[in-house]
Amino acid sequence: MSLLRFAFFACFAFASLAAHAGDGKPNTYEVRIAGDRAHVQADLWQESGTLSMFNVMAVEGLPNGQADLVDRMQVTDASGHAVALKSLGEGDFAVQGNQRLHLRYDVKLEHDRHAWPAGKDEVGYRTDEGVMLTGASLFFADGDVPLDGPIRVHFDLPPGWRANTPWTPIDANTFDVASRRELTSNALFFGTAASSTLNAGGVELTLVLGKRYVPAKPRFERLLRTQLETYTQLFGGPPRAHRYLIVINEDASGDGGAFASSFSQFIQGDADARNEVVWGYVMAHELLHFWNGLTIVPTDWHEEWFKEGATDYLTIMTLARNGFIDEPLLFKRLENVPRRYLIARVAQHLGMSVRDAGKDKQPNRQLVYGGGSLAAFALDVELRKRTHDRAGLPDLLQALYREFGQAGRPYGFDDLVRLASGIAGSDLRPFLSDAVESTGYFDIHPTLAGLGLRLDGFLDEMYVSREPGAGSGERARFGAVFATRR
Ligand SMILES: [Zn+2]
Repeated sequence: MSLLRFAFFACFAFASLAAHAGDGKPNTYEVRIAGDRAHVQADLWQESGTLSMFNVMAVEGLPNGQADLVDRMQVTDASGHAVALKSLGEGDFAVQGNQRLHLRYDVKLEHDRHAWPAGKDEVGYRTDEGVMLTGASLFFADGDVPLDGPIRVHFDLPPGWRANTPWTPIDANTFDVASRRELTSNALFFGTAASSTLNAGGVELTLVLGKRYVPAKPRFERLLRTQLETYTQLFGGPPRAHRYLIVINEDASGDGGAFASSFSQFIQGDADARNEVVWGYVMAHELLHFWNGLTIVPTDWHEEWFKEGATDYLTIMTLARNGFIDEPLLFKRLENVPRRYLIARVAQHLGMSVRDAGKDKQPNRQLVYGGGSLAAFALDVELRKRTHDRAGLPDLLQALYREFGQAGRPYGFDDLVRLASGIAGSDLRPFLSDAVESTGYFDIHPTLAGLGLRLDGFLDEMYVSREPGAGSGERARFGAVFATRR
């Protein structure tokens, strides 16, 4: 063993041990929201030499992203002596480890003044009913070693405000948090906005609605309840967490972002039957991430195409099956899939493979989502063809769920190939390579033909319709994938 490798192993062994070190005392956070600031006091065991704010995204005017909205930071040790911090950039600070730290700082609630690459729905914003903040915008924690002791968070809020979180409530404003990930990767809402809880598919969902959306509450609940039950069947079990929070407010972007056990969604204008095709789609997509992405987790960005693309395709499939979109809307949705891929390849000149596009997800969005959903769609039809319609993509989801869902172990591309090939009874590596590892143009026509559909068009004009001469096998396959079951 070389010296370098030995050093690596020694560090690794130390880090593993260190994960169970600490002083056994609880880690606590106290957050007081007043005016345009959140005042935070934290009492934490710091094991490693890095104190971090997580998921930091640089944005114009804030080179260190969310961390640049932190003000008046003071850190002391257990005996009250000042502890030196050295900024390493991007929200990381070098600090003496292996000691208990006391942190005091303010977070300026100005997140919505900046054009975040993934949208302010994934960072923080204010409304006239309160403030949405992600845990990552609010909390510091050990950057290398997950917090070992219990984590408790208490909020001190303006009169009439409520704390909405997906965490375990101790009292109205105090919560126990299961892990550093649950602490930092979640959307939270503080304020007077209406909130209600529904139970479906073994999951407890709390819905926080901006006042414009209160009249549409039955519409949201119907979609959430129906889709939750369908996803539980599709994956063969409930998602990893059992308590979730959804925050809905108004914004022209219509964007949404999913976290460990919450999501934050914007809707443009009122939520009614006409635009349910837009917001219902975003809501169903984000909800599906509780399984695909947060229960079944990819090793790294290479499989963003499966996380986003399979989620997009399955969202279309289940909205059709549940009758939320009719056949004309289904065909419009199916037309959007190759169109996004075409925009990425032809208009944006994105020449990398669909897998490689995941490295820079936001700018390569059309290729990750468009190319990814095209690949998931093609894989579903290919599995059905190869198994004489005995199996399809849902069988792959269930195999992934059984092997990776509760184990906390991430899957990689080889796992997808192995499980899909096992279901098909033949090697699917060449097929999947062509769909997501090639830099050429993937042809979707055979997939549509396999469902008795055709795609007519010229450049960005695309029209999906039923092929009048399709065989009964293809027509039956279309029914098995998309026909309404309710
Ligand atoms: Zn997504």
